[in-house]
Amino acid sequence: MEKSRFIGLECIRCGEIYSDPQITVCRTCGDVLTGKYDLTGLKINIKEQKHSIWNYVPVLPPVLPENQFSLDEGDTPYVRLENYGSMIGAGNIWAKLEGCNPSGSFKDRAASVEVSLAKQWKCAGIFTASSGNAAAALAAFAARARLKCLILVREDSTLSKLEQISAYNPRIVRVKKLFTNKQTLMESLKRVETLLPGWRNGFVWAPFNPLAADGVKTISYEISSKKVPDYVFVPTAGGDLLFSIFKGFSELKNMNLIDKMPKIVTVQGDNASPLVQALEKNLDHVEETGTPSTIAGALRVNFGANHAIKAIKESGGFGISVSDREIENAQKNLAELDGIFAETSSAAALAGVEKAIRNGRVQKDATISVILTGTGFKEYQFNQSELKGIELLDSVNDLKVY
Ligand SMILES: [Zn+2]
Repeated sequence: MEKSRFIGLECIRCGEIYSDPQITVCRTCGDVLTGKYDLTGLKINIKEQKHSIWNYVPVLPPVLPENQFSLDEGDTPYVRLENYGSMIGAGNIWAKLEGCNPSGSFKDRAASVEVSLAKQWKCAGIFTASSGNAAAALAAFAARARLKCLILVREDSTLSKLEQISAYNPRIVRVKKLFTNKQTLMESLKRVETLLPGWRNGFVWAPFNPLAADGVKTISYEISSKKVPDYVFVPTAGGDLLFSIFKGFSELKNMNLIDKMPKIVTVQGDNASPLVQALEKNLDHVEETGTPSTIAGALRVNFGANHAIKAIKESGGFGISVSDREIENAQKNLAELDGIFAETSSAAALAGVEKAIRNGRVQKDATISVILTGTGFKEYQFNQSELKGIELLDSVNDLKVY
């Protein structure tokens, strides 16, 4: 049986390595940690179909088989956007359909790691603060593992999101001012940690849980089973997804399983773009920006972490921001032209591809991967007025043929 090649947690800034997998941030410089694995002589057949992230055990945190909780997450479709590509004059755009994961988003890859670690470390329960994909994923995997789960949501969370989370039956608590800024969020999570000793803080973000990224990096392993793209466009909030994708490709390159690194591009909303702004100012850290505003709910952030900047710079990528109008158009065109219904946050990444090609930042013949993070069903709120646009007949005898 293959075992984890986990060595320890390594600081992305000062390089300090900690053998204890339960440390969260660097004790020397305070920066983000990431799992380090011994890749020497490791043979991973990336051409082989692998259902469930736990088929990549050597490059995942150490968890005994009986504590690995999976819903066959991962192994999501990778589809060429032929018609959308034609529309914008680009022939090689490939979409990773992460909405096909069990709870409908890429967060299942992280949640599988988080919940499995909680079982491995014999935690009494797991909690997080989220109103969206991370909460649904964590609650789903906690249900699977029969682990107690507490989800803190913001007061103004929409019913459509709460409905899915509720289905898995965690304890849900609405909290006023939960996400006011980075500081209130950090303080809230720390407070719950002290109130619930023995529980795992499952907030899916590297400054709290550096090992979740190792579940998410399997996206890069799967993409590499086809062809390494020139660019990967990633919709970005806290930066974990982007960093994970960079990390996955870096490991594959280190193992000589691929011969080049793709350039990683972050896409954020025009008025929620702390990472893009930091790149434009050539900073090595993300500064907190003003009140964030974008139609893409999962991208509505005004802070970030340094691991994403490092990933973009080292890969030779860049940052781009898109307007609400561009996001809505991308979402509509993706569904109408290629039959894929993605959430707005995913569509933002595609809007970024379109803009980058229009601006000449990316060549039309480049091979581009775009990560469509979640299904459109996640946030879709059908209202009665939309029925007016749909024909209603007494019987099919009245159907007009055209
Ligand atoms: Zn450090």
